[in-house]
Amino acid sequence: MGPHLHRDDIQIKRVNSSSEVRMNRLLKLLKKINLSISNPIPQDQKYEIGFLVLWVGTKCTLRCRDCGNLIPYVAPASFDMDQIISDMNTLLSFCRVNKLQIQGGEPFTNPKIGKLIDRIDNFNIPEIVITTNGTIRLNQQIIKSLKNVKNSNFQMVLSSYECARNKQDEFYSVLVSNHINCLKYDFYQKDGSWVNQGGPETCRNNDDQKTQELYSQCAFKICLSLVNGELFRCGRAKVSSEVFGLQYDSNDYLNIRKIGDAAEGLSEIVKFLNNPHFKEYCRYCLGTEEKIPPAIQLSAASKAVIGK
Ligand code: SF4
Repeated sequence: MGPHLHRDDIQIKRVNSSSEVRMNRLLKLLKKINLSISNPIPQDQKYEIGFLVLWVGTKCTLRCRDCGNLIPYVAPASFDMDQIISDMNTLLSFCRVNKLQIQGGEPFTNPKIGKLIDRIDNFNIPEIVITTNGTIRLNQQIIKSLKNVKNSNFQMVLSSYECARNKQDEFYSVLVSNHINCLKYDFYQKDGSWVNQGGPETCRNNDDQKTQELYSQCAFKICLSLVNGELFRCGRAKVSSEVFGLQYDSNDYLNIRKIGDAAEGLSEIVKFLNNPHFKEYCRYCLGTEEKIPPAIQLSAASKAVIGK
């Protein structure tokens, strides 16, 4: 489904890829530097994250061929909710988050989602949304939890799909009748279209230069994603390792469960988030420019091939 962002919200800094030599030099430098900004933030302050996406699992009720997060191509799982809450608390001890997006897969497939909803006011994050495809009928306990959220900038975000129209209409009317704030989301381009980031059959292993250019221009690298204790630059990173057989190192992700204490932990976060070198997952990404229709469902034949 992709990040709950609009194109106008993002300032893209374009790099001028004038000379191959200059780019190669830059790449060598980026790879070498161990960012000497070991701790540019005073210890009593926090690193500011504008937008954080929190995954609660990889289960989904739809099988969207072009899912930006590659969800149909990975084993479905609901992550442990106590661990998710603990990971959030760890990250928030080092960082101030301005906006949090809770998502799956489809977040309401996680049977413990109510526990997270009951805690979100404690996170003290100014704006929180839950993105959903609206295909799961909410039980009374979940509705009660949603109604109890105090944050005035809390919102449900319903990704609008033709293939699930009837269920979505019912879902939306349940929210409205319970006075739960809900936005029908028209996606990043504001026109109902998705971005084609590529899937298992279309992505190729790009070389260093092309990948650095892509990453430098990428609008989605602001979508920091916390997935089962691991912090990535964007939403397709976690599943890319499985789909494309990638090995990650400390440039590609940060394990929040193994992070150091106090200044050491903050330093690890700063080092990871400020590193301008591309990530291994960017080699298998088409970027964020091409528009495609949303939520085209995988055929039965494709499902058989991917074994789900
Ligand atoms: S894989 Fe890299 S280039 Fe593609 S969306 Fe993620 S950060 Fe951007």
